[in-house]
Amino acid sequence: MKETILEMEKYAEEYNVPIIEKESIAFIMKYIKLHNVKRILEIGTAIGYSGILMASVAPDITLTTIERDEKRYLEALKNIKKCGLEKRIEVVFQDALEANLIGREYDLIFIDAAKGQYIKFFEKFSHYLSPNGTIISDNIKFHGLVGNTSEDITKNQRSIASKIEEYIEFLKNNKEYTTKLLDIGDGLSVSTRSENETR
Ligand code: SAH
Ligand code: MG
Repeated sequence: MKETILEMEKYAEEYNVPIIEKESIAFIMKYIKLHNVKRILEIGTAIGYSGILMASVAPDITLTTIERDEKRYLEALKNIKKCGLEKRIEVVFQDALEANLIGREYDLIFIDAAKGQYIKFFEKFSHYLSPNGTIISDNIKFHGLVGNTSEDITKNQRSIASKIEEYIEFLKNNKEYTTKLLDIGDGLSVSTRSENETR
């Protein structure tokens, strides 16, 4: 498996696939272990890198991961097989906003897909979160562009950064969840259900 992970890192670099930063996946893997996470949902598989690492934390973890890009989906299937994880990782080839997961429940939902749609992902997939579950989102800093108001960033970059800023506001204002923003890698948000949500 180690070999495959290294190959994936190389592939990601060569083909510009935005896989998670080492520091961030290390944090998430620790979190999974510490909180005894067993069922994981990932939005944004890419080539399977983060999914494989999350599932590798313990032998009884299962993971569902959703990817809409066919080339990446196929690459992920290949990598998951190479790691012998095809029984525990299910890759759904679909736009996450169209995926139907009715009846499923997850202890951890990892949001790492189109940065402009984080609020939609959160609103849709929080319905599948177990009572003590956690939602973690990646790239909350968007390469340092969140909060950057200078004029030397492109319109497109500014637009995505604004969407992430909106997502952060959404999380802060969401009374049902308590969110921590972590300055790890490209920035992670960790949201858990608030204790006093009902009185
Ligand atoms: N989690 C991966 C990286 C994911 S990169 C890792 O760290 O290894 C983000 C991926 O999300 C891209 O491959 C992109 O195709 C996919 N994506 C973006 N929007 C999506 C959507 N609405 N539904 C499914 N996949 C999406
Ligand atoms: Mg990411």
